[in-house]
Amino acid sequence: MKILVLNSGSSSIKYDLRDSQTGAVLASGDVDRIGEDGGLPDHSRALQAVLDALVAGAGGPLKDLSEVDAVGHRVVHGGSFFSGSALLTPEAVQKIEECAPLAPLHNPPALLGIREALRVLPDVPQVAVFDTAFHAGIPPRAHVYALPYAYYERHGVRRYGFHGISLQSVTRSADAMLGGRLAEMKAVVAHLGNGASITAVAGGRSVDTSMGLTPLEGLVMGTRPGDVDPGVLLHLARELGLGVADLDRVLNKESGLLGVSGVSNDMRDVLRAAEAGDERARLALDIYCYRLRKYIGAYAAALGGLDVLVFTAGVGENSPEIRASVCEGLGFLGIVLDPAANGKARGVGADISAGGSRVRVLVVATDEERVIADETVAVVARG
Ligand code: ADP
Repeated sequence: MKILVLNSGSSSIKYDLRDSQTGAVLASGDVDRIGEDGGLPDHSRALQAVLDALVAGAGGPLKDLSEVDAVGHRVVHGGSFFSGSALLTPEAVQKIEECAPLAPLHNPPALLGIREALRVLPDVPQVAVFDTAFHAGIPPRAHVYALPYAYYERHGVRRYGFHGISLQSVTRSADAMLGGRLAEMKAVVAHLGNGASITAVAGGRSVDTSMGLTPLEGLVMGTRPGDVDPGVLLHLARELGLGVADLDRVLNKESGLLGVSGVSNDMRDVLRAAEAGDERARLALDIYCYRLRKYIGAYAAALGGLDVLVFTAGVGENSPEIRASVCEGLGFLGIVLDPAANGKARGVGADISAGGSRVRVLVVATDEERVIADETVAVVARG
């Protein structure tokens, strides 16, 4: 089957056409700057541009669009409604809409893409695949915040967790590398991209994860701070007069690696600056790695042990420096790296643990589009 995978964001639509049997990428690209100068005016035109690019006249792989067997949409937030992928019926679209207040930056543009795709490809089955679904089984002690219970019960204020599509991809690959034994193991998976999160996995399932109601909690990220004392926000509001919009900007766009280093949100730039002697870049890296180390310890405690540590996404797959720095001093947990293997591992499946390491440390490439294509096929097959 030929599956069109769509990831519709506020100013871009990323697409990927996959052959579901082989996993082959038949076409891939993005239309960006939607609604900006020099870009297309709206998601409707942008999706049309995507579809145009897929057909042979424009050099694409399809004779015509009737060759698209199904469409899989990435949706960030499935709230409490979705514990797995779902066929996009009007009811499902309505529920995704109801989740929009939980992910105001992500769900509304995904819905624009979904509605447009349903309109122009009305006879093609379409499926939503959620970043929250992998975490649906996290137990209450890990997903209920110690706030007044009514906020949980009536307003859905709880930990949902994200990066679930990536986790599905990574746990599948790790399982293959571990001879199909992941289900018997206690694993921690660090997804280190622009956004970053870490997840405790037992029996192949998420039992705790660092992102919460929103993708702000947990690790230090490119432009987000991860964990901060909530009192800091009250202090900034009271003493400096910051309003909700200001705090939103500070937390989502101005913090993290960028905020501390003043250099960049891009890990490569921060590493280069630190190498060149920039002290705040050095400090940003220290905080980044220290926070990760603390979470690995916390999740080893949550799991009651640790058998596997997995690094994935841009930083996790490509930065031996960060992996080494994170694992430094974790010998007491049984984590010992092989420096040569770590230095070599980039973007491919590799075991970077030393011969005597009790914990297997893996570098695994995440392939979210493959998961979305596979989920789409599975949901369509179920009907
Ligand atoms: P996204 O979350 O947008 O999908 P990625 O998973 O592509 O992001 O990760 C982006 C991050 O990966 C950036 O901070 C980038 O600097 C970092 N990265 C990519 N390659 C390297 C590298 N060779 N060394 C260090 N960091 C890298």
